[in-house]
Formats: sequence, structure tokens, C-alpha cells
Amino acid sequence: MVDSTSRASFDAKRILAESQRAAPWITDARRALHQCPELMYQEFETSEIIRSRLDELGIAYRHPVATTGICAWVGRGEPCVALRADIDGLPITEDADVPFRSRNRGKMHACGHDAHAAMLLGAARLLKERESSLRGTVKLLFQPAEEGGAGGLRMCEEGVLRDPDVGRIFGMHVWPMLPTGTVGGRAGTFMAATGFFRITVAGKGGHAAMPHYAVDPVLAASHVVTSLQSIIAREIDPLASGVVSVTAVHGGDACNVIPESVTLRGTLRSLSSAGLHYLQQRVREIASSVAAAHRCQAEFAGIDTDYPAVVNESESWHAARQVAESLVGEPNVAEIPPVMGGEDFAFYTDRVPGCFLALGIHSAESGAVHSVHHPKFQVDERALPIGTALHVLLAARALDDLTA
Ligand SMILES: [Zn+2]
Ligand SMILES: [Zn+2]
Repeated sequence: MVDSTSRASFDAKRILAESQRAAPWITDARRALHQCPELMYQEFETSEIIRSRLDELGIAYRHPVATTGICAWVGRGEPCVALRADIDGLPITEDADVPFRSRNRGKMHACGHDAHAAMLLGAARLLKERESSLRGTVKLLFQPAEEGGAGGLRMCEEGVLRDPDVGRIFGMHVWPMLPTGTVGGRAGTFMAATGFFRITVAGKGGHAAMPHYAVDPVLAASHVVTSLQSIIAREIDPLASGVVSVTAVHGGDACNVIPESVTLRGTLRSLSSAGLHYLQQRVREIASSVAAAHRCQAEFAGIDTDYPAVVNESESWHAARQVAESLVGEPNVAEIPPVMGGEDFAFYTDRVPGCFLALGIHSAESGAVHSVHHPKFQVDERALPIGTALHVLLAARALDDLTA
């Protein structure tokens, strides 16, 4: 049973009101982080800003974890629940019209990870203020390298889910497809298993006027690109989902030279790791056979670590849904379809039950209309206190559920 002190301390309206009172502090943290976007495993200044805020709040933490990551905690003992925010930026030049633009040339918080970290700092503040009412420990994970570096995997490998053992984990992503004041999610697979690849098609260079003395990797690579599309069109159940995208083709420098080789790069997506492995195997086989048909050799290699699919445990989603409804009202919480985007939150849900949520930030009046990874991407900052309150309530609810 939940005692009345705990219930009163974590009443949704009260938490939202306090979160809104803390909004200037949260927004200030977000803007400070926004101005210094750093790429994977280089988030040194970012990490410093976060730690200085934690110091200000008197919150204990372990650092470094996964080079620049931080594992902070509020409360004590078991059960234990974790809340996670990623902290890295992207190699994009910011073109958003905001007074707190990126100061790091060619780098931008274009995926909202600055907002994620700030909302989690807000949650840290509110949780610390009611620490004595917490029925266990809340770990606050500030994680580097979500954008391709598998920072989540390294955090897990460096023990953030142990001592005390994490029983549930929650995370959220700002979601430009949903309006501010709404929350989305679903039970089961929410985000795709993701892999990146490189194919090198090698032939024999020569004079373009005498192609019969050369072995043309440009023609072979062109056939490979076209043939790869047959995997989704002809091999995957039309009711299932998969993506094969070739996104880069590099080879040759001159009009009159057949190059030695051509490099293709791209990404594969599926809603399961088994599906991803199938795509990888078929891309490898097709590239090799098609290249061979054109007297070339193709070599397939994965780039970076594959991400598994983000799978929301159904109990965690149902609890999260109730919590979100208590916060923003039932009509503003939606069950949304899975997306083919990848998220390394998957490394946590592979290990412990949990749930990843979509936090609405779309607002025409505040200019938050562009997708993530767009140079004009913006966050409607009115969503920040909602995200903070959601974190706090998710943690309190999960501790209650684990205690019951
Ligand atoms: Zn991203
Ligand atoms: Zn992201």
C-alpha cells in the first residue's frame, strides 16, 4: 500500500505546479546546454554544466561513466528506478532563429538532447525536495553518445543498472509530430532496430574510352543499389516493416576515368533484431552476387554498433499512460504507431523493464515546427516543465508499484 505522505507528495497537479515554478531554472539549464552542443563522447563542457547543477542541488553522483556520462541518485535503498536523458549534439550547423544559438561551429542540439538533460535536471530538483517521501532510489542517468556511439550500451556495461539494481527505467524524447501538452507511447516495439553499413565495390580502373580494358565498379554499384530495393519489395511480408536506404555513393573524380572502386553507405531498419540480421545478411549476399555478375567484388561491413529495437514493457507503458493522463488529461495521451527511427534507450529495455515516451513539442506560434536533425529544429520550451513533472511522477509511481 502507498502511504498517504508519499501520495500527497507526488500528486500530479502539485508536481506540475512546482515544475512550472521551476521552469525558469529548467529553461536556463536547457539554453546553457543548447549553446555548447558537443558530439559523442566529447560532451565535456555539457557534463560540467550538468554536474554544476547537481552540485547546486546537493545531489550525489558517479562520474565519469562512459567517458562523459553521469549517474546521479536521489533517495536510498531498494527498490530502484532509473530515469535517463541523453546529452550529445549533432554535426549540423544551426539555422534556428533563437537568441541562445549554438556557439560551437558546425554542431547543434538538433535532436533536443539539451531539453532531455534539462528536464531530467528539473526532475532531480523536484525529487531532491521530497527525498524523504521517496520509497527507494531514483537514479538519474545523463548519457553520452546516443547519436551513433551506443552510449547507452557503455552506461549499462559500466554498471549503472546495478547497486542498487534498477527495477524499471523510463526515458522520453521530444516529439515534433505531437503538439505541446501531449504525450505518446505504446506497449511493445516502439522504435526500430538499426544498423549502418558500408559496401565497397571493387573493379579495375582504366580509360573511360576503353571500358573493355577496365572492370567498371560504377555500373556494378548502380546495379547493387537498385537490386537492394528488391529485399523490401519482394522478401519482406507486406504487413511487416523494414527499410533499406542507400544514402551515400562515392566513386570516381573525372569524366574520362573509370575508378578502381565505389563505396556505398546506408542504413537498415527493422522492428526486431532478427529482422535487422536478415536484412544485413541479404544486403551482403545481393551486393556480393550482383557485383560478381559484373566482374567486381563487393565487401559488406557494418558501421558502428547496431541498436536493438526499443521495446516498451506493457506494464510500464500502462503505468506511464496513467501517469501521463493524470498530468495532461486523458485526451492528450495517445497510443502512437512505432517509428523506424533508432534509439539507444533500447540497450536499457533489453536489460530491464521500462518504457520510452514521446513528449509533444510542436507549436507553430513558438516556431517549433521542424523535425529533429533539421538545422532549424526548435523545442517549444513550454514542454519542459511537463517533461520534468512526467519524470518525477513516473519515478514515484514505479517505486510504489515495485514496493506493492
Ligand atoms: Zn537524433
Ligand atoms: Zn534523439
